[in-house]
Amino acid sequence: MAGQVNPFESLQEQVDDAAAFLDADPGLIERLKNPERLLETNLTFERDDGSLETVRAYRSQFNGDRGPYKGGIRYHPNVTRDEVKALSGWMAYKCAVVDVPYGGGKGGIAIDPADYSEDELERLTRAFATELRPLIGVDRDIPAPDVNTGQREMNWIKDTYETLENTTAPGVITGKAIDSGGSEGRVEATGRSTALAARETFDWLDDDVADATVAVQGYGNAGSVAAALLADLGATIVAVSDSSGGIHDPEGLDPRSVKAHKAETGSVTGYGDTDPLTNDELLTLDVDLLVPAALENAINGDLAPDVSADVIVEAANGPLTPRADDVLADRDVYVVPDIFANAGGVTVSYFEWVQNRQRFHWTESRVNEELERVITGAFDDIVEAYESHDLRNLRTAAYVVAIDRIVDAADQAGSWP
Ligand code: NAD
Repeated sequence: MAGQVNPFESLQEQVDDAAAFLDADPGLIERLKNPERLLETNLTFERDDGSLETVRAYRSQFNGDRGPYKGGIRYHPNVTRDEVKALSGWMAYKCAVVDVPYGGGKGGIAIDPADYSEDELERLTRAFATELRPLIGVDRDIPAPDVNTGQREMNWIKDTYETLENTTAPGVITGKAIDSGGSEGRVEATGRSTALAARETFDWLDDDVADATVAVQGYGNAGSVAAALLADLGATIVAVSDSSGGIHDPEGLDPRSVKAHKAETGSVTGYGDTDPLTNDELLTLDVDLLVPAALENAINGDLAPDVSADVIVEAANGPLTPRADDVLADRDVYVVPDIFANAGGVTVSYFEWVQNRQRFHWTESRVNEELERVITGAFDDIVEAYESHDLRNLRTAAYVVAIDRIVDAADQAGSWP
């Protein structure tokens, strides 16, 4: 992957591109390009051998005009201050584009969790939760899972918060296990919105996703679920990859069986009777639909001319650099942006929070129906902006919709002398 592009600069460029089509005060747009608040802290925790280790952690609260800050917590060696700032901004625009009443936030710890035991990760996560305690809260800032975190970490954060606050507050975090107040459908939600976004886009283009060949980069939570649900819609998944490499079968893979192979062996590689391929080969494969579902900057301006897909649906956050966007727009490749395509995760997080507040549990079919309503409605709003402003790509259209909503909320709040 091209790691040189600073994701925070990408975010700021994306906001500027869309702001050019809106009649908003430049001073307000400047605020909407930067987080309101950033926690940068050091966490010291005990290793299993009794030694102490200190690692760097962040939480960025980007914008609170439409509701509490909301966004995941990532454990990855590449976590930096600017990455967290960018991810928190994408969350603010994501919540606005699907009209979920939240602002944006994001957090992260710069570690490779594979280097630590479960006990060490628990001590570290609880140390982070203790640092986060003054910032988070059911109506203030609500973290969730992201890369390399899941229900386990969310349950630890919730338990630490509740113990320190001497209360029960399941809505302080989303992405919890069902018995700890989680929602049906949350684990699948990001992949589900990715598949729905692909279906809507192919329909809009007078095509049918059932006839599409698909390559998926990244086979974690988002990528593996998207692959399975796209296959359920009739699409043929011809290639998938993870950080160890990729596999290709022009006849089509069984995504659930590949997932089981990865769960057993740690990687998709070596699955069945498939050909190996590199990640760049996967990204440039001749397919109808490409789903980047790994990390930022997977496709940059150098790789974009070689991308052969007709449609790209971004399950990952920030997988295309702004230069890649320019190249792909010039080549009439439709890019369905992250802030819309992967918004299923935050939308079902919102449903989880609503259920926690109601102390009530929805059925999985209700969650999935409400999610489909939100995603199809948001797609219509994006297409309306794309066509009415004659925009160059769907990303700018999504930002126009999102920024407009945040600017409206800020205007309605008025100014504070
Ligand atoms: P995950 O940790 O479950 O999976 C990430 C996958 O990417 C793994 O299979 C990993 O091996 C693979 N990967 C890493 N580097 C790679 C590389 N260079 N080439 C190919 N594969 C590589 O994470 P996830 O939750 O699926 O998140 C993936 C992306 O989706 C991230 O950008 C995340 O921010 C975004 N996202 C996730 C959610 C969610 O609910 N999980 C919601 C919104 C957005």
